[in-house]
Amino acid sequence: QRILVCAGTGCASSGALPIIDILNDEIKRRGLEETVSVVGTGCQGFCEKGPTLVIEPQQILYTRVTGEDVAEIIEQELIKGERVERLLLVDQTTQKPVSSMEDITFFSKQHRIVLHNCGVIDPKKIEDYTARDGYKGIEKALKGMSPEEVMEEVKQSGLRGRGGAGFPTGVKWGFCRSTPSDKKYIICNADEGDPGAFMDRSVLEGDPHSVIEGMLIGAYAIGADEGYVYCRAEYPLAIKHLGIAIKQAEEAGYLGDNILGSGFNFHLKVFEGAGAFVCGEETALMASIEGKRGMPRVRPPFPAVSGLWGKPTNINNVETWSNIPHILRNGAEWYSQFGTEKSKGTKIFALTGKVNNTGLVEVPMGTTLREIIFEIGGGIQGGKKFKAVQIGGPSGGCLPEDMLDLAVDYDTLTQAGAMVGSGGLVIMDETTCMVDIARYFLNFSKKESCGKCTPCREGTTRMYEILDRITKGEGKEEDIDTLENLALTIKETSLCGLGQFAPSPILATIKYFRHEYEAHIRDHK
Ligand code: SF4
Repeated sequence: QRILVCAGTGCASSGALPIIDILNDEIKRRGLEETVSVVGTGCQGFCEKGPTLVIEPQQILYTRVTGEDVAEIIEQELIKGERVERLLLVDQTTQKPVSSMEDITFFSKQHRIVLHNCGVIDPKKIEDYTARDGYKGIEKALKGMSPEEVMEEVKQSGLRGRGGAGFPTGVKWGFCRSTPSDKKYIICNADEGDPGAFMDRSVLEGDPHSVIEGMLIGAYAIGADEGYVYCRAEYPLAIKHLGIAIKQAEEAGYLGDNILGSGFNFHLKVFEGAGAFVCGEETALMASIEGKRGMPRVRPPFPAVSGLWGKPTNINNVETWSNIPHILRNGAEWYSQFGTEKSKGTKIFALTGKVNNTGLVEVPMGTTLREIIFEIGGGIQGGKKFKAVQIGGPSGGCLPEDMLDLAVDYDTLTQAGAMVGSGGLVIMDETTCMVDIARYFLNFSKKESCGKCTPCREGTTRMYEILDRITKGEGKEEDIDTLENLALTIKETSLCGLGQFAPSPILATIKYFRHEYEAHIRDHK
């Protein structure tokens, strides 16, 4: 029997780590060490209800566990085979306690591919990863597939980059592969910086070997022999687990020279970011690794032609890399059965804001916002009315209630003026002021602007001044038109994605909540 305790950053911050020691002591005191083991796992998903633990094999979920509950859990579960009802999750609809994870809507409505191991294995043990078919994907590639066949498999799967833009991954790999060079690099972008987003952090903390294996497969297909994981320094646990995983993979012969006797070499390092949001942009990220100030540059040349130290480089984010081992192991056809015609597979979302079930969820592409927010997310806190959802971080858009039935996929959301983005979903209720929300996100973009180009540097400041004026009741009649004009100009003329998408929350809130802007201006006259 195993007791899985979530030891990810979310649960650790609500007191999970001492529970592991207390559990081990209690198990020892009762002489159960031979039959029961305690495992500190990565994120189990239900962050708002943390610390959480799961009793296996029955899959019983306990929430908001404290050290004082441990003796009772052991006595009831392991000795008597009964539940501790007060620590079970209460179903939002029936108001009755639910014990088994498969009966909890939050879990049963999800489809976990990337999160397959998160919350289930000890991320610090490579044997836990290999016991669940880990490194089988790279073994399959090295033992029986040419780099071209690996690339074709990824192309056929329909996987699109999960970092925000949704560019087809296999096609992107092809650009780098076809550039002649004696040296090529691959990079994992783990500089997750959107407010409300913690998908990549959770994957790195809970299943770091999946990212390493994905990068190995990508390096083999592209012809790279060196890689970096650029991880934000604010993620110490992710960096620690990644470091342990790299060392273990080296010792097991999955990283280094002549991997599995194939003649393929690949070396991987972790690079800690320096705290600038703009370093999530590919060219700024590479400048940062090179020891320069992290600033975007004009493209072309694209990284696939001239990237890190002028060499062809391919960059994908954590979630994209983590999908790759599953595609290689199970095949493109298997993967492409999930999702929509043009957006295949699943997507991880970080659900935050005024929603009951704050946490980490993975659903097939094409799932509607209503299903994510009201079924998996359990609806709005305190029985209040839903007002809007901010999707895609500070560069995304705010969508109102009548768009809740939109399928979440790249093309549908772009048409609606939003974007899948990296996967942050911030839920707002009827008490939220949408002008204030636009000001909040714009303030973030304004502060993070690197200042290289005028439209973004000056434009975000000017837009912020107008928004600030409106929210203080000093708005003028012409402010909404000025905001729209500025937003469209900045969108068109900024150098990188930060500036190009910084106006999105303003354009979306004016489009769907114009009456709130008008009310601010009118009511304070
Ligand atoms: Fe820097 Fe903004 Fe220009 Fe990007 S758009 S290069 S963040 S000033």
